[in-house]
Amino acid sequence: MNIRLFKPSIGNEELEEIEKIFQQSWLGLGEKVNEFENAWSEKFNYRSSIGVNSATAALHLALALFRFNRGKEVLVPSMTFASTATAVLYNNLQPVFVDINPNTMVMDIEDLEKKITKNSVAIIPVHYGGEPCEMDKIISIASTKGLKVIEDCAHTQGGKFQGRKLGKWGDIGCYSFEEKKGMTTGDGGMLCSDDKDLIEPAKAMRWVGIDKDTWKRKVDNRFSSANHWFYEISILGYKYNMNNLAAAIGTAQLKKLDNFNLNKIEIIKKYLAGLKNIKGIKSLLPYSNINDGTSSYWLFGVKTQKRDKLISYFSQKGISTGVHFTPLNQQPLFNKYYGDTPISEKIYEQICTLPLHPELTDVELNYILGELNTFSGLYL
Ligand SMILES: *Cc1c(COP(=O)(O)O)cnc(C)c1O
Repeated sequence: MNIRLFKPSIGNEELEEIEKIFQQSWLGLGEKVNEFENAWSEKFNYRSSIGVNSATAALHLALALFRFNRGKEVLVPSMTFASTATAVLYNNLQPVFVDINPNTMVMDIEDLEKKITKNSVAIIPVHYGGEPCEMDKIISIASTKGLKVIEDCAHTQGGKFQGRKLGKWGDIGCYSFEEKKGMTTGDGGMLCSDDKDLIEPAKAMRWVGIDKDTWKRKVDNRFSSANHWFYEISILGYKYNMNNLAAAIGTAQLKKLDNFNLNKIEIIKKYLAGLKNIKGIKSLLPYSNINDGTSSYWLFGVKTQKRDKLISYFSQKGISTGVHFTPLNQQPLFNKYYGDTPISEKIYEQICTLPLHPELTDVELNYILGELNTFSGLYL
């Protein structure tokens, strides 16, 4: 056995879309990116979606759009991937680490309220593993305190909280199409909002400051074949655009997304049923939306006192594992930023991510559950 932790589900549909791009010989930023953005907006009911080359880029630009003053504070959970907090540093702002609720692994509301200061400007909630943050409370706190909310949706594409889609509660939603995430474009990301005017500048910011669309509108009467080369740069941009190749893969993946989500739900249900009879190993998340047909979970995790032993046992058995994540404030880069997070630090030592992807077979799943059971009998 050699079971991968995550595996993109790709096939002929993606190849066919790529072939169309090859036939046009236009691989960079182009019409296919527009098409994918429109399909994404339609699927998730956004007014505007802007394709970029990663969620890291999306988070960077999302914060940059607000032009916060240097040194202001952005509240992020400690239990997340580095990008949530590096995006804060890219913008010359300071991350403040918020502890998690041990049952759901998402931002703890009480700790969030405690850590808001007069310098706070924004909150970046992360729907850990696809488990929804308490967005009603976060939005109400943010509006009372005048804070912006950027949802880091790297772990969910289509999950809901209280019937409303994740990524549509805050000012901006940021998605990842990195290879290991819920659907992929190889690498890629999306910046989305219902406030079209708010995110419009990101179109130029993702392409070194060039926005041909804006220019076309502005000087439409001058737009002729004689000055097609003309563009104007009035904003600091980055090289963050999505390209046609990535958008081609994304177009095919988006059509499969509902099935990916449903397949993973079936697998998670089997994991949860199997765990009921295994001593000393618990599900990491409640998977509270498991019976909601539209939920979108990314990882399956467990908690156990013998975490390190489980990881080495599983590696001998050909089962890949992971740890998501080391609390960020324990990383040397983030050491100096404010935020005690005792719960994250304690729970971190017990968490282990197990294989979950749409093509995980029953044979593989039963093998994993069997080995979990054997491990529990031996060590727990
Ligand atoms: C993966 C991830 C990102 C970054 O996504 P990329 O597309 O790889 O840049 C951001 N936030 C979280 C929570 C992630 O897990």
